[in-house]
Amino acid sequence: MQTIPHYINGSLVTDAERFGPVFNPATGEQDKQVALASADRVEEAIAAAKAALPAWRAASLAKRTNIFFRVREILNERKPVLAAILTSEHGKVLSDAEGEISRGLENIEFATGLSHMLKGERSEQVSSGVDVHSVRQPVGVVACITPFNFPAMVPLWMIGSALACGNTVLLKPSEKDPSSAVFIAEVFAEAGLPAGVLNVVQGDKEAVDTLLEHPDVKAVSFVGSTPIAQSIYKRAADHGKRVQALGGAKNHMVVLPDADLDMAADAAISAAYGSAGERCMAVSVLVAVGNIADDLVAAIKSRMATLKIGPGTDPASQMGPLITAEHREKVASYVAGAESEGATVVVDGRSQQFDSNGFFIGVSLVDHVKPGMKVYDDEIFGPVLSVVRVDSYSDAVRLVNDNEFGNGVAIFTRDGGAARQFEFDVEAGMVGVNVPIPVPVGTFSFGGWKNSLFGDTHMYGPDSIRFYTRGKVVTTRWPDPATSVIDLGFPQVD
Ligand code: NAD
Repeated sequence: MQTIPHYINGSLVTDAERFGPVFNPATGEQDKQVALASADRVEEAIAAAKAALPAWRAASLAKRTNIFFRVREILNERKPVLAAILTSEHGKVLSDAEGEISRGLENIEFATGLSHMLKGERSEQVSSGVDVHSVRQPVGVVACITPFNFPAMVPLWMIGSALACGNTVLLKPSEKDPSSAVFIAEVFAEAGLPAGVLNVVQGDKEAVDTLLEHPDVKAVSFVGSTPIAQSIYKRAADHGKRVQALGGAKNHMVVLPDADLDMAADAAISAAYGSAGERCMAVSVLVAVGNIADDLVAAIKSRMATLKIGPGTDPASQMGPLITAEHREKVASYVAGAESEGATVVVDGRSQQFDSNGFFIGVSLVDHVKPGMKVYDDEIFGPVLSVVRVDSYSDAVRLVNDNEFGNGVAIFTRDGGAARQFEFDVEAGMVGVNVPIPVPVGTFSFGGWKNSLFGDTHMYGPDSIRFYTRGKVVTTRWPDPATSVIDLGFPQVD
């Protein structure tokens, strides 16, 4: 069986005392295992990152920039190879996998602008003969801990800017789909990144605990579920690290009565069921305002019947399997419990049969959902769309704002004034207007509000430069030029 290794100080390392299973979700077979790092292995990787730091932070911005340009070229060229790896371990369809890599590449493109992003400021003559300037310097060794659902894109969200700013990195990917992290680290090495600057430690809680407690790790970037994000935030902060921890989501899509019905129904299908609902920006609650509800539910239901679910490698598939058998059971339990909570199951994805042992489940639509029902309150992270019916715009905003999560939200309307008011009123980090999954482009930053983010800075884009650097302000005074041994012709006053 293939063992997925760590990548430490430029070498692949497969020895371990413990291994975790890696499944192909489309077949249900375990065809790989991943080495799970012990505390000692993580310490070895931290030592490599620490040793590589002085030379990397001294590398010229031009040298760093050239590496990012080269990474972009190689990753673009090998996109199909990496996409096939993603599909074989995560299950998403190949077009989604390629899309994920393209979005991740935006962060590498952003990093090529590092000499602009790292510019400081200067004030001349703040006092007689005194100038002040600021510089941004790396924080040191950075730990990046990532979830299973975007095994290439989320690592690229973090490592692009962390490395550009002159830090060295330990990437701890999800143990469920760990290969792409090693693939990406090898691409960086091929592009000229020195050994030890980017290391991958595979593992679970033991590896994460070591990263959070080790004094040589200075910053932690985390993306994952809310309970883990909250605990990572507290523990890393307790150990004196700066930390940003992005958590889970329950994204609402508000549809006003004047919305374009077909546009809203198409958006609901792709945003709720794309990537089997395993996206932190997936729409999981449709908020139907006023009299549009019946027509909207009917339009979504009719589209669901045509969705093709199958292996991600089949170009005809629009949705692949879930990540594990346990996760499929958990997703199914929400649909099973919905009727007894008082909701109406319009389409029950559990009834769809698949000719495979893969972790497939059909798509579900649950109507007349209300807060207080588990199907509404919990992040399901699967292909289940709940419909909440409300009477008015203000009821819709209250519902969204009362929800514990605030990652993304969308409004569908033809009314510019209503959309503008929504942008002003709504409590979420990312807002879409007739756009169901409003993931900011690489030149903005990504992050939610409330229990979707613990920390102050959002991820990638301009916020990442602040997170991965420390500001330093230098105040300078030189001896009086009139006393210089060089004749400056001083004073030069006209
Ligand atoms: P997860 O929280 O289970 O795991 C995330 C990472 O934490 C993994 O690397 C995992 O190994 C590690 N981990 C898990 N349990 C741990 C523990 N007890 N102690 C220390 N480390 C632990 O999340 P997941 O299931 O891999 O990913 C799905 C979740 O991530 C969803 O909740 C989704 O909404 C969220 N997510 C959020 C965003 C965002 O930008 N807000 C983006 C992608 C995914």
